[in-house]
Amino acid sequence: MKPCFRSLCFLCALCVLCGECFSLDREAFSITNYKLNLQIEPEQHRLGVRGKITLRNDRETPQRIAVLQISSSLGWRSIKAGDRAVQFVTQPFASDIDHTGQLSEAIVTLPQEIAPHATIDMTIAYEGVILLDATRLTRIGTPDDIAKSSDWDQIDANFTAVRGAGYVAWYPIATEVANLSESDSLPEVLVRWKTREAASTMKTQFSIAADYSSPPEVLVGEIVCPFSTLEATSQLNQREFADCISQASDAPTLLIADYQVATKPELEIRFLHGHDFAASRFADVAERVAPLVHDWFGPQRERAKIADLPDPDATPFESGALLLTPLSSSTPNSAGLAAAHQLTHVSFLSFRPWIEEGLAHFAQVLYLEQQKGRQAALDYMGAHRSVLTSVESSTADDEAGHSLVNTVNEELYRSKAMCVWWMLRDMIGDAALKRAIAAYKPEDDDGPSYMPRLISAHSQRDLGWFFDDWVYHDRGLPDFKIESAFSSRTMTKSFMVAVTIDNLGAAGAEVPVKVKFAGGDVSKRLEIRAKQKATIRIETPAAAQEIVVNDGSVPESDTTNNTLKVDPPSS
Ligand SMILES: [Zn+2]
Repeated sequence: MKPCFRSLCFLCALCVLCGECFSLDREAFSITNYKLNLQIEPEQHRLGVRGKITLRNDRETPQRIAVLQISSSLGWRSIKAGDRAVQFVTQPFASDIDHTGQLSEAIVTLPQEIAPHATIDMTIAYEGVILLDATRLTRIGTPDDIAKSSDWDQIDANFTAVRGAGYVAWYPIATEVANLSESDSLPEVLVRWKTREAASTMKTQFSIAADYSSPPEVLVGEIVCPFSTLEATSQLNQREFADCISQASDAPTLLIADYQVATKPELEIRFLHGHDFAASRFADVAERVAPLVHDWFGPQRERAKIADLPDPDATPFESGALLLTPLSSSTPNSAGLAAAHQLTHVSFLSFRPWIEEGLAHFAQVLYLEQQKGRQAALDYMGAHRSVLTSVESSTADDEAGHSLVNTVNEELYRSKAMCVWWMLRDMIGDAALKRAIAAYKPEDDDGPSYMPRLISAHSQRDLGWFFDDWVYHDRGLPDFKIESAFSSRTMTKSFMVAVTIDNLGAAGAEVPVKVKFAGGDVSKRLEIRAKQKATIRIETPAAAQEIVVNDGSVPESDTTNNTLKVDPPSS
């Protein structure tokens, strides 16, 4: 009878738990303060954490149940409200916010109801391992090697790099489910988490057991943690202690590595043994990129921070001023692009992704243009455009959610925004755009129209239609079709061609129209609003042979209808 009774109890517990699952409000509380003491044993991949956190009720109703989540490879050891033990049950919770695809969730019954906006201090302990794990990617069909170079986080004797929320929940979070098979699910959960924890602080204290010849570098996000003491705890092991204070909302990355550091006026570069050449090459390239970035985006607020990753195939990762990238596989070209991006981040600040990331990608194209000419810049944007075309075709119905000012979709606020900045520059010129960028103050940014207003003011051009189609709404992409081209002789023995272009798309743009003739070509720009036609007359020294609309500077859904042969003028 006993086993039966036991399984019955188990079932009951399960029912109670599931009853709770359905009504659980996982985001009712945010964690406003973390004070964590981390014991790290790199050889064993182990992390043990004791600490205090402060929970704040973000709802308008009193709350009695709080949810705390950590990576599924970690386990809860104790949870107390202050010094009082509390009731809690733990369960696995499938969510792609963690690399393992699952969280260890503690459902905590608080000793009393917490009033709206009130806080409660909790004392917590959890421990486990953080190993390389790409389950969340492989289970949706990502090939093994690609998944592992993307989710490269782990605690390891040679190198420890563990990114925060969105990769590895190495500190407690409280989030609803994130699902990688739904395109915007993970970024939406992350944006909500970051917004709720925007003012949170995190203090971390490390104790690292390892046999280091000299203390390793410890970073939490961009912050280099100073070592306070160095003690030998056994004959084999030394323990290193370091302290760090950071903003939790940056989803701080934890880095422990035997880095060497090179410092230049523009950047601080941390590199692994044997990567001296790649590091100094990166620094040299960055030094050459800097004047262009400063010319466009102003002087640097701080040094860019570059840190090396050991796996040459690892996908780079950026967070604020910090870029993690495998230096060993960098080329002069990739270093230049990375430097242009990162130097822009430390020169120009905006909390709006389409401005912050869009301009950092725009800087990369400016760099390519400076190095190799306009065509190289257009080719680079072309590589992003194919992705953009597929994103746009899948999001075309959902205008507001996918507008550049609202989107959480990286392809849009990176690739599309890059193209938007490039089009703006083509329309108003370098000088006006630089003036608008220089006038931007993040503290004055009071709404989505702040930057567009600056651009219109500094260019003295009404660009309302452009911002409507590209920034405030997602109207998809234009589709230019050359409807007709008629060539005729002029009185002065030159030729005139009249070109009519139809924009079949729902987004307007100003686009270059090129007339090719024997011995050369000439281009002019033409504004063609959404679903409208426009005609332009272009004079050429010889009879027009072919018309080409769009040199690749305007992202477009269909480019197969962009050329037209011209019949010679009748005499
Ligand atoms: Zn960036």
